[in-house]
Amino acid sequence: MKNHHCMVWGTAGDIGDRGKGVIVVTREEARVREAAEMIRASRFLIAFTGAGASTESGLPDFRSPGGLWRDQNPVLVASSWGLQRYPERFFAFYRTRLSKMRGAQPNRVHSILATWERQGLLRGVITQNVDGLHQKAGSRNVVELHGALGRAHCDACGRQHPASRLEERGIPRCACGGLVRPSVVLFGERLPTDAWDKAVYLTRRADVFLVVGSSLTVAPANLLPRMAAKVGRLVICNRDPTPLDPLAHVVLRGTAGDVLEEIDRLLRHFRLL
Ligand code: NAD
Repeated sequence: MKNHHCMVWGTAGDIGDRGKGVIVVTREEARVREAAEMIRASRFLIAFTGAGASTESGLPDFRSPGGLWRDQNPVLVASSWGLQRYPERFFAFYRTRLSKMRGAQPNRVHSILATWERQGLLRGVITQNVDGLHQKAGSRNVVELHGALGRAHCDACGRQHPASRLEERGIPRCACGGLVRPSVVLFGERLPTDAWDKAVYLTRRADVFLVVGSSLTVAPANLLPRMAAKVGRLVICNRDPTPLDPLAHVVLRGTAGDVLEEIDRLLRHFRLL
């Protein structure tokens, strides 16, 4: 049978089928079971999400075919330099993202993570996403490493403005004359210190660190899973390979919604939740 192998399922620490003898599972199923068992046994589970967690909500990621960078130059439309030099292009790009985001609803990835947190299984979500969908799904302990598209501030004086200002016609300006911009981290900018410090704190405590839907190519965010692999177990769930796969204890290659649903089903089936 292609891609199948026999394994004895029922040794100490397994999550089920104890005593049932030999059953046939695919390698993928075995890996999902291993991840589910790790998650069940965890004491401080942290999820780390990227754009791939939100693609099922209709928000494109950056680097996949059809992603946001397919016909855009990130340096022009998403950098502090681009904001100052080509504000029309900058705001056109962010207005399109903002209008898509306004209509987006959380998907099964966000819902499952929110449920796990409510049930005391998950301690927090560190996200690179700026769409606010984790909070919309009910997650409470969310660290937004790259800010939020639903907030705006003046690039010059820092004053906060309603995000609706970003959708005004023309270039939005503050009373001080500065540009009103989305409160997201642009290329060439530092991450917010408080978010970074909290993310490092959570990562150091994590005995299981679950990556969901990230290419793990954006620094410094991708230092966190590296750190996590040293202090605990790293589980990577992504559709495509990532450069950190060799550091992971388990790699789950697939659609995040399918994989998390299967883990959730296993946890419930074996009454692990
Ligand atoms: P990325 O585009 O670099 O990588 C996304 C990864 O997700 C890809 O490797 C792809 O294979 C995977 N993926 C896509 N759909 C998937 C699915 N349904 N299931 C499993 N995997 C899936 O994005 P990134 O790693 O998050 O990092 C880049 C930056 O993207 C971050 O700075 C973030 O702020 C920004 N971003 C955010 C949003 C958002 O807020 N929704 C959208 C686009 C980009």
